[in-house]
Formats: sequence, structure tokens, C-alpha cells
Amino acid sequence: MGDVHVHDVLIIGGGATGATLARALSRFDLDVVLLEATAEVAFGVSKANSGIVHSAMHASPDTLKGRLEYPGNLGWRRLHEELGFGLNPVGEVLVALDEQQLAKIETIRQQGIRKGVPGTEPWTAQRTLDAQPNLSREVRGAVWAPTACVFNPYEAVMLVADAARRNGVRIEVEQPVIAIDPPDPQTPDGPLVLHTPTHTWRGRFVVNAAGLFADDMAELAGVRDFTILPRKGEEYLLDKRMAGVVTSIIFPCPSPISKGTLVNPTVDGTIMVGPTAQTVDDKHDTTTSEAGAAQVFTNARKLVPVISERDVIAEFAGLRPVSDTEDFIIGPTDRPGFINAAGIQSPGLTGAPAIADMLVDILADAGLALTEKADWDPTAPHPVKFAQLSTEEQRELAERDPRYSQLVCRCEIVTEAEIRDACERGAHTLDGLKFRTRAGMGRCQGGFCTWPCMRLLAEHLDVPVAEVTKRGRGTWLVREREDQPVATASTGG
Ligand SMILES: Cc1cc2nc3c(=O)[nH]c(=O)nc-3n(C[C@H](O)[C@H](O)[C@H](O)COP(=O)(O)OP(=O)(O)OC[C@H]3O[C@@H](n4cnc5c(N)ncnc54)[C@H](O)[C@@H]3O)c2cc1C
Repeated sequence: MGDVHVHDVLIIGGGATGATLARALSRFDLDVVLLEATAEVAFGVSKANSGIVHSAMHASPDTLKGRLEYPGNLGWRRLHEELGFGLNPVGEVLVALDEQQLAKIETIRQQGIRKGVPGTEPWTAQRTLDAQPNLSREVRGAVWAPTACVFNPYEAVMLVADAARRNGVRIEVEQPVIAIDPPDPQTPDGPLVLHTPTHTWRGRFVVNAAGLFADDMAELAGVRDFTILPRKGEEYLLDKRMAGVVTSIIFPCPSPISKGTLVNPTVDGTIMVGPTAQTVDDKHDTTTSEAGAAQVFTNARKLVPVISERDVIAEFAGLRPVSDTEDFIIGPTDRPGFINAAGIQSPGLTGAPAIADMLVDILADAGLALTEKADWDPTAPHPVKFAQLSTEEQRELAERDPRYSQLVCRCEIVTEAEIRDACERGAHTLDGLKFRTRAGMGRCQGGFCTWPCMRLLAEHLDVPVAEVTKRGRGTWLVREREDQPVATASTGG
């Protein structure tokens, strides 16, 4: 399909970088489209990471990633207030196991102070063990940083994208950019022309926020001057039985290439252990390994000896989109209108709101007129989390809206009203519903709720149930039998 309309900004990629940019631009009177390759926003590396808004002490202020870390931390706190995703300011305990590490962690604390990070404290071994009694008796001391938080990165990114949509940004999923036309010598200042399998998109400006594939997008635009080297990180989630084994994010003294193996509470009350840091060739290789698990648990036990592989309930790997410069690459390129937001490795999630603000300034410098909308709404109704309400609150809600009395997911206590709300906020797939509401994440792993979720989604999308997918094209869950009429959507079941 052709589209001769020229949009002000096309954003390639709906991860933390693209979504926070979309939301930042939604404040202005602009025509913005976000093009995401997969069926949902936040399904790139922004889904598979440690879920930490870093304290901001770690990355050097001599790097861009270091400079954007603390403003990003503040940005997420603001977004949490405005949009209501779960975020828990649990703080960080950066642990030293010997005298040399004690000196190193104090250097990191001083670096944090230079970056404006408030509230850090050097802790003695006793103070550290009083706060975190399950830490190893080998602890020599620690640095406490209260600014660190845990959150659900996918929930946050999905709500940020939804906030952008509510303020007029078009979010287009299953639109992988596969070609970019070369500049037209007749109209060198003309729009950039992007192709997806089904559409042609024209934009005055294009922001390349394609994560692992940002170098491929730069190549398509004819301005590739960097390479993305995927760096895999394996993560392990422990049973809720281990909840409370640590109550803050436990960091080891870091190595030059990685922050090391962390043990942290998640916003959902489980414990996460990881990640590894291994450069791989394949941008799709998200396998976990025996060697990775062995490394993670050996390291984790040095900090928290009771941590065990036996408690693992889920594992995954994510790929950091590391550039060959080892820093973020954010800025204009030799192709007029084509702007990179590439190499967004850790702490890229933390930095995202600040990356977005920087990109807005870059776009303004390049000539994008920024007129604030009179009706821009920075807030959005906070999603209801029925399971987290008191019985009294649950009863009141169910009396007001009977869809809150219809349980869809029994394990995680998710109601029909929450599923419908997630559909309204942009869920297109079963996994999109799952990551927005937790339906299907519990003990029965969707045994009970898959079918009602599919029916509600089909009804919302106005398609036969057989067209509902797990995570986009090619991942259908049921096939219609030729001898049966098309399945139609209705709730319940
Ligand atoms: C194991 C691990 C742990 C981490 N932990 C943390 C942490 O705790 N805190 C932190 O701050 N950072 C952490 N990070 C880093 C953080 O996850 C990333 O920096 C951040 O998520 C990058 O976001 P992004 O939007 O740039 O990339 P992505 O989330 O990957 O988004 C890019 C998007 O572009 C889309 N795309 C790609 N190609 C195309 C195309 N051709 N057309 C259209 N769309 C396209 C992709 O589908 C994807 O959705 C971690 C990373 C890993 C791997």
C-alpha cells in the first residue's frame, strides 16, 4: 500500500528507547508514527533484562550512558507517578568481599556523588548484615544507594507507548522496516522513504531506535558507521518461596565489562539472579545454557550462600545491543533527517527517558518545530491490579463493574475487566495480554485462562478466534476445522 503523506517523525523500534521518545514527542503538535517489527511493543531486549532502574552510580560520567543514567532514573520515577506501572524503590547494596573491593566500591560511590546521585552511604560489614542478614559472612562492607528501583520493564514500556497513543502517536506493530530509499538527487531535502512489507512510509525525520538491528537500519539508510555486537545475559527467576531472601538489589563489585551477577527482588515478589555477559554472533540467540547457569549460581552464592538452582522456576536470556564504541550512539548522521539512537546497552533501560529528551532536542536543532499541545495529558488511568487490592476494594470494584467479578486467570487473579482494559491499551496477542496483566503467568501456565483470553482478544480485534496468535504472525494457537463454522468470540469459558 502506498502512502504519500509525509509524517513529521517516524520512529523505528518500540522498545524503551522508541516508546519513551514517542511519549516525549506526543506533547507537541506533531504527526508521529512508531513502527515496530514484532506484534507488540517492548518485545525486544526491553522485555528480557534485569528490570532495574539503576542507582546511577555505576557508569562513568565521561560516557554518554553515564551522563544519561541519573536523569533517566528520575524520568522513570516521574513516569511511574503519571502512568501507574509497578516500580519499587528497593535501593542497591553494592557489596565488597575484600579490602581491594572496598576501595573500588568507594570509588564508584564518589563517582555517583559527582553525577548528583543523592543519599549514598558507605556501610560497615555489620551494618550491611543487619540490613541483609542472608548475605555472606565474608562481606567486608558495602555502599548503599537508595535511588535504585525494580520495575517490570515490559509493563512500563507498554504503558508509556499507550500514553503516547492516547496523545495522538500512531503505534504500528508488525511493520518491520525492510528498505529505505536512497536520497533523491532531485529533492535532497525531501522526506525519507521507508518500506515495510505492507506499506511505504514517508517521514521528515526518522529515528533509528531498532535495538539489536540499529546497525542494519543505518546500513539501509546508507550511513552505517558502527556495528552492534550482541552481548547475551542469562537470567534465572526463583520460586516465591525465596521472596525476602534479599530485600534490595545486591550487586557484587563490578568487572570492567559487566556489573556482575546480581541477586535482586523483582517487582512481582520473586527473586532474580543474573545476568551473564557473553558476546555472541547471532542476534536471535536467546538460549540459556548449563554453563551460564553454573556461572550465575556460583557467583550468586558468593554473595548470598542460600541461593540454589533448585528454586529456579523460569529462565531467559536477553541480548544487549552493544555498539563497537561501547557507548550509546545518539545523534544526527550524514543522511539528513536520519537520527541514530543506537548501541543502547545497559543502562539503556534506565537511561531511556533521558535518551528521549536528548532526541527531542536533537530533532528541534535539526529544524523540527515543537509547539506544545494545549490538551496534552501527561497522565493516564492507572491500570487496576485486582490481585493487589484488599478484599474490601475488590468487592467495591465488582459491585461497580461486574466484569471485575469474572475471574479469567485463577492463578494470578486477573479479571475480565483487566483483560478488556489491556486490549484497549494495545494488546494484539496472547503474550501481549500476559505481559500486561500476568494472565497465564501463574502455576497452571495458561491452562485455564488461554481460551477466555483468546475469546476476549478476538472480540476486541473483531477477528475469528482462530486468528488470535501467541506472539504475532505464524504463532497461531488453534486451527479451524474445515467441517466446522468459523469460531466466534464470546466471553466466559
Ligand atoms: C540480560 C540483560 C539485563 C539488562 N538489565 C538492565 C537493567 O536492569 N537496567 C537497565 O537500565 N538496562 C538493562 N539492560 C539493557 C536494556 O535492556 C537495554 O538497554 C534497553 O532495553 C534497550 O532498549 P531499546 O528500545 O533501545 O531496544 P529494544 O528494546 O530491543 O527495542 C528495539 C525495537 O526495535 C524493533 N525493531 C528491530 N528491527 C526493526 C525493524 N527493522 N523495523 C521495525 N522495528 C524494528 C525490535 O523489535 C524492538 O522492539 C539489560 C540488558 C540485558 C540483555
